[in-house]
Amino acid sequence: MADIAIRGVSKSAGGVAVGESSVLVAGVDVGGTKTLAVVVDVARPQGVVAQVRRATEVDGVGGVLATVTEVLVQVTAAASASPDALAAVGVGVPGIVDPLTGSLRYAVNLGIGGEMVDLVGALGRHLGDQVVVANDVDLAALGAREVLGTAGDVAYLSIGTGVATGFVIRGQMHPGAHGAAGEIGHLPVAPDGPVCECGQRGCLEAVVSGPAIARRWHALGGDGVGGDVATALFRLAADGDAVAVALRDEVCGHLAAAVALIGQTLDPAQIVLGGGVADVGQPLVEGVREALRRRAGASPLLWALALDERVVLLPNGTPAGALGAALAARTVVTGGGEPPGGGQPEVATS
Ligand SMILES: [Zn+2]
Repeated sequence: MADIAIRGVSKSAGGVAVGESSVLVAGVDVGGTKTLAVVVDVARPQGVVAQVRRATEVDGVGGVLATVTEVLVQVTAAASASPDALAAVGVGVPGIVDPLTGSLRYAVNLGIGGEMVDLVGALGRHLGDQVVVANDVDLAALGAREVLGTAGDVAYLSIGTGVATGFVIRGQMHPGAHGAAGEIGHLPVAPDGPVCECGQRGCLEAVVSGPAIARRWHALGGDGVGGDVATALFRLAADGDAVAVALRDEVCGHLAAAVALIGQTLDPAQIVLGGGVADVGQPLVEGVREALRRRAGASPLLWALALDERVVLLPNGTPAGALGAALAARTVVTGGGEPPGGGQPEVATS
């Protein structure tokens, strides 16, 4: 392991002082297009010392190694340190991560298919650091719980190019027996919806993902919006555009079904909406809450569950995945962790 203490460094970056004997860990969130990295001080997990974003090199394992190596050089430089100073590194990846070995498969957006890849071993040899690898959405759930200071269980519903859920139960990520817990994107919710890439009809991902919303909007004859279609759609709906209102209510209805599924299965304290579509912000949360109240209808049982009150957003720009990866790395340093993969111990909230 690298020398874990940075002595004699006393500086302030982003409002967080790096003091005597700081112990630094890094969290890296490797996405299909962008990779985000943070450096945090183990003693102050919410105090992000530095944050960097760069393009992901998509080229299988080699691409992941190159991307993580480069981003660590950049983010530690931004923290006035070097990669050697890191006590441990947490890495989140979009794919199925074996909770026992940290091996990765089906990270299709990174050019990794069905063959198991020993990413923990490869990164560890390459970086010379202790490495924890976990699913990006599971790590985002861990990061979200820390940021929100939630005392109980958390579910994080990521709505982006793909749709999936991560869970934190009793302070620990819950990747499931095979690392596939929360893969609800391919659960059919719309019997008359479009055929999904997976072969089923009306999967959640086929009706609420960013690309799905854009496709539906254009199919309905909607146009004239550039950039983020979901944000534009919700804005037009607020202005009373009939087509936009219909699609907004449709999307919120499907998301409410997902929230109800998660809520009635796990009964988490909070269900956090994340991913690119959540950049819509408060109008999305309000729309999902309203759809949940519609679903509750005349059922005293559903009203008693108060799912609408449990749906929340993270503060804009929160690097939940990278932060969660850093928290997972922290557990390695503090001795409470069982790396690699899941099984993180209690993460104290403050
Ligand atoms: Zn599907």
